[in-house]
Amino acid sequence: MVEFDEIGPEKIFEVYHPKTGMHGFVVIDSLARGPGKGGIRMTPSVSVEEVSKLARVMTWKCSLADLPFGGAKSGIIADDKSISKKEKKELVEEFAKALKLISPSMYIAAPDMNTSEQEMEWFAKANGNKKSCTGKPKKMGGLPHELGSTGFGVYHATLVALKHKKMNVKSTTVAIEGFGNVGWFAAKFLSEHGAKLVAVSDSSGVIYNKDGLNFKELAMVKKEKGRVTDYQDGTRIPSRDIIGLEVDVLITAAIPDLISPGDVDNIKAKIIVEGSNIPMTHETEELLTKKGILIIPDFVANAGGVISSYAEHKGFSEKKMFELVEEKITKNTSIVLKNLDKHENCVRCSALTIARDRVRKVCKVCRL
Ligand code: GLU
Repeated sequence: MVEFDEIGPEKIFEVYHPKTGMHGFVVIDSLARGPGKGGIRMTPSVSVEEVSKLARVMTWKCSLADLPFGGAKSGIIADDKSISKKEKKELVEEFAKALKLISPSMYIAAPDMNTSEQEMEWFAKANGNKKSCTGKPKKMGGLPHELGSTGFGVYHATLVALKHKKMNVKSTTVAIEGFGNVGWFAAKFLSEHGAKLVAVSDSSGVIYNKDGLNFKELAMVKKEKGRVTDYQDGTRIPSRDIIGLEVDVLITAAIPDLISPGDVDNIKAKIIVEGSNIPMTHETEELLTKKGILIIPDFVANAGGVISSYAEHKGFSEKKMFELVEEKITKNTSIVLKNLDKHENCVRCSALTIARDRVRKVCKVCRL
């Protein structure tokens, strides 16, 4: 029998707008549980292959969170650092217009790497239907992901993982890779609840202090100077070195493919929480699990964003959204960890069993 992971996505759309140079695609991985849900990634190197993997992650993420969505993801090929705001707006608008036929019926967009509430506003307006995307600004009736839903979910997944390891958040040291929307809020909630934030990275490097970083000061430095390494009280090391620090918890919150098999011996964390999507391959996860490291996979830990998207889609309040994120992330992470011994300690396998069963239940013919 063919394993689901060998089966490709249901549909791939590729769109162009020669005048603006817009070139993008949408990968609909599965429509079994509802319209495909997933963000728009804008990078110079984004590819159908990368987006297909991310769309599969969305299928599992929406299913595990028990949301009435299928999995999807899209990409626009562009370097957002080298184009003007006007050019970016044109690209997003042309992308939205090109997707009118499939959004929102088959694809509901959202923020992802280099897209945020501003891009969702452009997308919804150009598409002409507010339901075509989530993560829109409040003035449009949206629940922007900038409220911190993903980081809040990552924080709750971390609490469950600590409980599982019989560790106390108050005596836990944490390193966070990336200080964008996800890393920022994960750092905020964890430090507010007594964890010791000892290292944070961004593209400028890592700021490390074994006695702890002050979140408020760090947030101010990042806002004013744009770099965490301008925080005074700490040691600076290269960005990637964050993965090898002596900490209890390592949270990935930025780049894909961060950890490779060659890094396994170097990792000292007891728990890794995947706040970013696909920070390592399943094989690397397996090697780390064999070392006794507890890994909370991406589609379990970072579902806060898409849960917030669902809340927006349903017209829920901000308060109800945060309650839903806490409830779903806590419940799902706990169930997945409770079933661990049935899956030889493989957290991904435990989570995948639940997510896959739910998809199969509603889709008897698609061999999932
Ligand atoms: N980009 C986010 C994710 O990877 C949010 C997706 C969404 O809300 O559709 O989960």
